[in-house]
Amino acid sequence: MSVVLVINSGSSSLKYSLIEVERERELASGLIERIGAGGVVSHRVFALTEPGVPAPAVLDERFEEERPVADHDEAFAVMLAQFAEHGPSLDEHPPAAVGHRVVHGGARFFEPTVITPLVEINIEDLSVLAPLHNPANVAGIRAARAAFRDVPHVAVFDTAFHQTLAPAAYTYALDTAIASEHRIRRYGFHGTSHKYVSEAAARFLGRDLADVRQLVLHLGNGASITAIDGGRSAETSMGFTPLEGLVMGTRTGDIDPAVLLHLARRAGMGIDDLDALLNKRSGLQGLAGSNDMRDILAGRATGDEAAALAYDVYVHRLRAYIGAYIAQLGGVDVISFTAGVGENVADIRADALSTLGFLGVRLEAGRNAVRGPGIRRISADDSAVAVLVVPTDEELEIARQTLSVI
Ligand code: AMP
Repeated sequence: MSVVLVINSGSSSLKYSLIEVERERELASGLIERIGAGGVVSHRVFALTEPGVPAPAVLDERFEEERPVADHDEAFAVMLAQFAEHGPSLDEHPPAAVGHRVVHGGARFFEPTVITPLVEINIEDLSVLAPLHNPANVAGIRAARAAFRDVPHVAVFDTAFHQTLAPAAYTYALDTAIASEHRIRRYGFHGTSHKYVSEAAARFLGRDLADVRQLVLHLGNGASITAIDGGRSAETSMGFTPLEGLVMGTRTGDIDPAVLLHLARRAGMGIDDLDALLNKRSGLQGLAGSNDMRDILAGRATGDEAAALAYDVYVHRLRAYIGAYIAQLGGVDVISFTAGVGENVADIRADALSTLGFLGVRLEAGRNAVRGPGIRRISADDSAVAVLVVPTDEELEIARQTLSVI
């Protein structure tokens, strides 16, 4: 049974997941937060059942504690201690490989890649393009390689799925010399999720991936939409960084770049102020004071005008992208919603698609309102386009891709 340990290392956090890939089962997962500033550890163990017997999702045990965690090396020691104390035993379920989520693969990495010292240097070099993410990914890779010396480590890049974008889709209309000197182009992100969801959607519908034109709407705290033509990413809303595109929890998405020039000139805002404004103080947070769609929905329901406007701006932008991407694909066969908002908010799904009746897109309200695990169809039987909710599983996708190259 091939077990993969999936690592998602952030600047002050370490997420891990132990996955039995053939059975698509998570054995355990955990999150170590506030690394370097306290330390909060949570570890979950999922019920083990006999092969072939699906484990009920509710059978899981959770362990939480606060303890100081100085750095990523110590975070790995804490993770190993969690496995030793609460299980499952890594001796009984030894990982065949460790899969690392890496945010930016630049134009260099377009496939899952076994990590060698040279690959590690290249990932570190790409920190220029992802200063918040790649250094943390590298810290996780170094610590993991020290903790698991005898197994291959594989990098799975958020950008990789979008390496199929055509030059017309990835090129900004910017002075070519400047763009090429600074590697400025659209890269796209959330690729692991878009790939997973588009493949799962085609499988669910019994359609050949090569024959379908799809939109995947990944609507979480970060949000992006991808147009996928025959399994290949053709257009995606995040660009040079994960800031471009849709309205997000705390990020603006698209904005006229001249606003920044204006704020620098008129408000005396510096680079760091602008960075924080665009990435942390905008989006739903900036419009209505919370980055959580649940708060926006609650505010809107009780007549809060700011929350209502935030909701409307969010939907307005979504519709614009959906329309543009259908035009780029020349039509659409499948539209899938995923991530926190996409999987949970029926109103957003309905409002995002409500103007597409002229294309034969018809949701069935009852199906759309039902909550539940697993993939489900929310379009009416006579809809010209299949509309699905597809829970994303980036950890499973990283584990699969990791095994595919070792
Ligand atoms: P993600 O980044 O995929 O984990 O999505 C996180 C976001 O999804 C949260 O910040 C919420 O805005 C939203 N979300 C999660 N669960 C729900 C829910 N039950 N209802 C509405 N929004 C939700």
